[in-house]
Amino acid sequence: MLYLLLSDLHANLEAFDAVLHDAEARYPQLDAAACLGDVVGYGADPEAVVRRLQETTKTVIRGNHDKAVALGENLEWFNPAARDATYWTLNQLCTESVDYLRELPRGPRMLNGFQICHGSPLDEDEYLILPSDVEMLAGRLDAGVVFFGHTHVQGGFRMLRGVVTVVPRPDASELETIELEEQAYYILNPGSVGQPRDQDPRAAYAVYDSRNRLFHMHRVAYEFETTQRKILEAGLPERLAFRLAHGR
Ligand code: ZN
Repeated sequence: MLYLLLSDLHANLEAFDAVLHDAEARYPQLDAAACLGDVVGYGADPEAVVRRLQETTKTVIRGNHDKAVALGENLEWFNPAARDATYWTLNQLCTESVDYLRELPRGPRMLNGFQICHGSPLDEDEYLILPSDVEMLAGRLDAGVVFFGHTHVQGGFRMLRGVVTVVPRPDASELETIELEEQAYYILNPGSVGQPRDQDPRAAYAVYDSRNRLFHMHRVAYEFETTQRKILEAGLPERLAFRLAHGR
């Protein structure tokens, strides 16, 4: 099976559309799509992104921003820009879309032999940034392959007698593939569609080929200037627009 893996869309319609077009062109035989949360928050097109997601992606788990918007949870942990964007987002969404976000299930969820979660398989709000964060998961994983989001950094970790970082791309390539060894555990992030933070402004996504155990990491250039303009016109915090040009 071929799975399209999307995470951290953050109401960025231009990036989401670019990813969908790229994935459809490269993988006409895609079987299913899964989203690892943070559909909204930060960006200027929450309603359009929710609708596009409903049209394209059957399996979706909630992220901390979806929770904040739909349930008012965790707002005390947000920085002022994220909090302002949360209130703005709630005002943009129709009732059905707020209901949709509220009803999104919490991760982790088991799909065909692999797991998806937002932050970590043990805690949806936790950040897996360093190998030491992942070492804590040793002996506590329910699946050999776990996909996570939340950090907005494409790549992740391989665990086998210790944890090493899986470095996605030494260059500006559009595709990097890693072959997953049977005996190791993998905790992998498809990267952020709508607000990358790994010094690469291009939208990120991944495709997992479960039969051949291949993890394909993709980057797609999109017109972030349009997205920036919409964020500024909406009166959202300027920083949310500027960071899109730098991927951080
Ligand atoms: Zn996020």
